[in-house]
Amino acid sequence: MALNSQGRPTRMAENLSTGGYADTFSGSRGLDQSEPLIFERGRSDNTGVDLPKPKGTKTRLGGLDRTADIGLPGLAEPEAMRHYVRLSRKNYAIDLGLYPLGSCTMKHNPRLNEKMARLPGLADIHPMQPQQTVEGAIELMGELAHWLMTLTNTPCVALSPKAGAHGELCGMMAIRAALDARGETKRRRVLVPESAHGTNPATAVQCGFTTDEIPADATGRVDLEALKAKLGDDVAGIMLTNPNTCGLFERDIKTIADLIHDCGGYFYCDGANFNAIVGRVRPGDLGIDAMHINLHKTFSTPHGGGGPGSGPTVFSEALAPFAPVPRVEQTKDGWRLIEQEADADGEPFGRMTAFHGQMGMFSRALTYMLSHGSDGLKQASEDAVLNANYILARLKHVMTPAFDGTCMHEALFDDRFLKDTGVTTLDFAKAMIDEGYHPMTMYFPLVVHGAMLIEPTETESKSGLDRFCDVLEALSEAAKAGDTDRFRAAPVHAPTKRLDETQAARNPVLRWTPPVVAAAE
Ligand SMILES: *Cc1c(COP(=O)(O)O)cnc(C)c1O
Repeated sequence: MALNSQGRPTRMAENLSTGGYADTFSGSRGLDQSEPLIFERGRSDNTGVDLPKPKGTKTRLGGLDRTADIGLPGLAEPEAMRHYVRLSRKNYAIDLGLYPLGSCTMKHNPRLNEKMARLPGLADIHPMQPQQTVEGAIELMGELAHWLMTLTNTPCVALSPKAGAHGELCGMMAIRAALDARGETKRRRVLVPESAHGTNPATAVQCGFTTDEIPADATGRVDLEALKAKLGDDVAGIMLTNPNTCGLFERDIKTIADLIHDCGGYFYCDGANFNAIVGRVRPGDLGIDAMHINLHKTFSTPHGGGGPGSGPTVFSEALAPFAPVPRVEQTKDGWRLIEQEADADGEPFGRMTAFHGQMGMFSRALTYMLSHGSDGLKQASEDAVLNANYILARLKHVMTPAFDGTCMHEALFDDRFLKDTGVTTLDFAKAMIDEGYHPMTMYFPLVVHGAMLIEPTETESKSGLDRFCDVLEALSEAAKAGDTDRFRAAPVHAPTKRLDETQAARNPVLRWTPPVVAAAE
């Protein structure tokens, strides 16, 4: 395999079965251009623009001027532009095809959202503008907050967290503040089911808690007896995802909430999978104390390289006093942001961000809510669940579902159907790339061996799902028929071929260093 100066494979695998001409002289193939790093394309002794040297200006840097070359690649405008456009064409995107990543809710981003976010009164404002000049934007935040509280039946929401994991941090900081206010310095143990997203235990530890794992039962849900055995007066709370990461509704959620509250702890709900229940279930009715909502999952704002995340966090009556600033408030004189802790009711634990959060995502998410209405949101979650169950029903004869029964918004398979085929979950996923499908989430959740977690979302049509299922069916049959070559070398049609995953994990090359030859020139 051809490697570049950084040890990165940039050319095609040489052993393709395409008659010996698989490797081109240029590394490009068809009109798909091979693309090195920008530092490898441009040389630092070149310059992309010619400007006359400034005359008669004295440095005002007080001796802090650069003494060595800056080392940036000198590229002309068309060269720089082509580099980035070529890279963008190697990206996979929800606008190109099905993106079945389980737990990530990759759904269509309606263009109406984009249009609204670009209105000058929303797009061209600055966080340091006087509040009275941006009252409309603050009202928009107030309205979004209203709908988030309505959909969850909670009395308070912090809009500022900038991702799901940031929302978890916000929720756990509020729990920590509430415990501290009660003088409960011993409550430091947080219960986390073993199927939890990695961000849950990471967040708990970040807030000074220890984590204690609760096993799943045979149905893929929290083992209630094991949970009871873990309760005690050092329990700060539980972090539970519902529907959980196995794509299953935690049926005992109300009992779990009662158990946690009775022992003096708080209930953090990971709301990343809210898309499965929005409009049908209000988490506040289930006894949660805090929950983040990924606007970039449930409310269709772009993510995965397409835009920043946004993780508003709702709070119960018990935690509301500790919610961070800023807070949005409607007074008789209009809308305003309460920015200082001293001006807020209760005992805010501080703030999560410098300003108020991801304004562009607030406009998009509110547009999505208002354009769907309550009936539309309910239908979206129902269709998301229907689509996942359609996949489960179509594939359960060829692949092995991890658990019996129907699922919620995502279908979870394990690798039993690949037993003795010599094909692994990883091989299977790579072969999907050759077929033009972005792989599903692999090897997560960890409770299932060789997990394959497929979330189609409601925005895929039946014919689109049928094409996808046809391919997975054919691949499953090819694996069982012993066609291992198809899998082992895959992907052969992608710009970058099969990577040496072990080498990439053990010896990651994360930093560009100038090639030795160039330095000697
Ligand atoms: C996506 C996700 C998160 C984290 O959300 P980010 O916005 O990626 O930080 C947490 N928990 C679950 C179950 C998720 O799917």
